[in-house]
Amino acid sequence: MIVFDLRCAKDHVFEAWFPDSKTFDRQAKKKQVVCPICGDTRVEKALMAPNISTGRKKDAEKEQAQAAKVMRALSEIRRQVEDNCDYVGPQFAEEARKIHHGETEERGIYGEATKEESKELADEGIEVGVIPWVPRADN
Ligand SMILES: [Zn+2]
Repeated sequence: MIVFDLRCAKDHVFEAWFPDSKTFDRQAKKKQVVCPICGDTRVEKALMAPNISTGRKKDAEKEQAQAAKVMRALSEIRRQVEDNCDYVGPQFAEEARKIHHGETEERGIYGEATKEESKELADEGIEVGVIPWVPRADN
């Protein structure tokens, strides 16, 4: 096993273990190496001088703690959405439109929409929020 300091395109630095260097190269190429902080798959080996690596690592730890906080907050949002809104799945855009035009009962809904659908809704003046969907904290 070998440990690498890796850096994603957003400059997050993290450590990851691989059976060997070739495995990292192969997985990185296939975008199987994922930044644990932002989920970016554009990951490369971080070339760091030892004297700055400690500070960097502390920053990464701080960012990870911060990321954990964000994840907790997001999972709380998810819990509230699930408790208070109707799940409409991929029909989200259609339902949001119906509610907007008073064609169906006004209520909170959630579901999946493509980027195009979200944009169309925004263009029509229909307010929708996009939240990163994270695993529930109580699972
Ligand atoms: Zn990242």
